[in-house]
Amino acid sequence: MKASQFFISTLKEAPADAEIVSHKLMMRAGFIKRLGAGIYSYMPMGLRVIRKVENIIREEMNRAGAIELLMPVVQPAELWQETGRWDKMGPELLRVKDRHERDFAIQPTSEEVVTDIARQELRSYRQLPKNFYHIQTKFRDERRPRFGVMRGREFTMKDAYSFDRDFESAHKSYDAMYAAYVRIFERMGLRFRAVAADTGAIGGQASHEFQVIADTGEDAIIYCEQSDYAANIELAEAVPLIAQRAAPSLPLAKTPTPGKSTCRDVADLLQLPLARTVKSLVLASDEKNEAGDVVKTIVWLLLVRGDHDLNEVKTGKLEGLKAGFRFATGAEIEDHFGCKPGYLGPIGLKKPVKIVADRTVANMSDFVCGANDADFHYTGVNWGRDLPLPDVVADIRNVVAGDPSPDGKGVLAIQRGIEVGHVFLLGTRYSKDMNATYLDEAGKPQLMVMGCYGIGVTRILGAAIEQNHDERGIVWPAAIAPFTVVVCPIGYDRSADVKAAADRLHEQLAEAGIDTVLDDRGERPGAMFADWELIGVPHRVVISDRGLKDGKVEYQGRRDAEATPVAEAEVFGFLR
Ligand code: ATP
Ligand code: MG
Ligand code: MG
Ligand code: MG
Repeated sequence: MKASQFFISTLKEAPADAEIVSHKLMMRAGFIKRLGAGIYSYMPMGLRVIRKVENIIREEMNRAGAIELLMPVVQPAELWQETGRWDKMGPELLRVKDRHERDFAIQPTSEEVVTDIARQELRSYRQLPKNFYHIQTKFRDERRPRFGVMRGREFTMKDAYSFDRDFESAHKSYDAMYAAYVRIFERMGLRFRAVAADTGAIGGQASHEFQVIADTGEDAIIYCEQSDYAANIELAEAVPLIAQRAAPSLPLAKTPTPGKSTCRDVADLLQLPLARTVKSLVLASDEKNEAGDVVKTIVWLLLVRGDHDLNEVKTGKLEGLKAGFRFATGAEIEDHFGCKPGYLGPIGLKKPVKIVADRTVANMSDFVCGANDADFHYTGVNWGRDLPLPDVVADIRNVVAGDPSPDGKGVLAIQRGIEVGHVFLLGTRYSKDMNATYLDEAGKPQLMVMGCYGIGVTRILGAAIEQNHDERGIVWPAAIAPFTVVVCPIGYDRSADVKAAADRLHEQLAEAGIDTVLDDRGERPGAMFADWELIGVPHRVVISDRGLKDGKVEYQGRRDAEATPVAEAEVFGFLR
């Protein structure tokens, strides 16, 4: 590829709305272009990375026995009504009407459509197991799209769905996907952890997230280096483990009067800034378990009408954990409030929740400026307690790092992560709703047991950059770099020798199947090098008259401090 025939567009400054390094660098290096909130064009340079990511995923999915198909982006509402998700999904599901006023969903995932295919096509036990996947555009009307492609509204996902005759076989399909994901993220050169995740509202059987380790990650994971314990902090099961460390007995709070207290009272009791309390409200209760121990439970509600920052909520949650609270599980929230938490896990509710109350808080402006007439009611079940909260939890690693671990094999540590993949053993949740059955050996219809497996293709770009960058720009892992090597001639348009050597090397590299770009734009060396360092190409070969006099070119790896003079043929040795 010659640079003059490609499209390169770099910027000195990142736009003001780019908060984190990956977003800034992707904008500056010309990988993406913003069209609207959470909606981006993938520019030619960015698309090359996306294609490499997709190819690795495709190869490993195929190798694991999954079969590629392609399902529509626009999906009839009827299918979504069959599973109830049309109502349950809330505003994250983008809905459109056609000219006949029929309702459609723009797919955020494809469980409904793939289950519809399976119930028509997979009729006999002989056809099972099957795993269908596609790499397709998704739309989720995220409340707070941000960080560029990391939390977009339109994005690309690989989603796979397995169909098995029973749980035993479904577990095997799940394990095969888990193993494929490990290979995929290893091949991409990412540092990641697979962590146990909450099965939450979907109520599945098993679930793991693949988290790329990065301080800017929106998730927090606890893990133990000495054993294989690793879990998303949202996982209800993980919570009591941390809580074990909690203060054994907390002084009883000046409990505000049930039904009479305001959020301000709760904020005071929890020693939290009022704004944070309003964004995420805490409801605590003490109950004795069978052994007579007091179990403190906390329910964290996200007020959907208020703006909330997930990080802030999670920090608040950690504060609660530190204080010894157990967080209510998704199922408990459902029991208590009669509605499913829309967010996977215990910390959020999609719809404004009506908690039956003897006093109605009719106006949010009671608590917070800006918002109004929120339909939020609350009970006074042991509101709040005097929690010994730290002012700020600046570094969550200090919070529980060093605590003994759950399996007695070591100590816990906490890291931040970016969720790039998620595997989920669904069970019969969708096959039941949609009556997806096959005939067993006896000719009896049985529900298919399903799993679903997602990878955030475009999010991976952001995650990889968060992990791999320096002050000059991106440092792509070679497997997903837009180009593997850039040939930079100095004086391409002036020196016949340089031009001949550059063209020759470019051809030889291309012939060897190495993804090469030749920078024939005639830029000054400084500007040319700065561009490719920003873009993050892992290998660079500089060709100049000075070097050619000694029969040498200069090789420099993107992380190398200096260039190494080498004979032309030796370049290949650096690229393997
Ligand atoms: P998150 O917790 O970050 O909102 P999720 O749990 O809602 O993600 P899944 O439903 O598990 O996401 O989807 C599978 C994968 O799709 C995720 O692991 C993630 O990599 C990717 N993904 C989800 N939402 C987005 C988004 N808004 N932008 C980019 N990628 C996303
Ligand atoms: Mg989400
Ligand atoms: Mg998630
Ligand atoms: Mg997920």
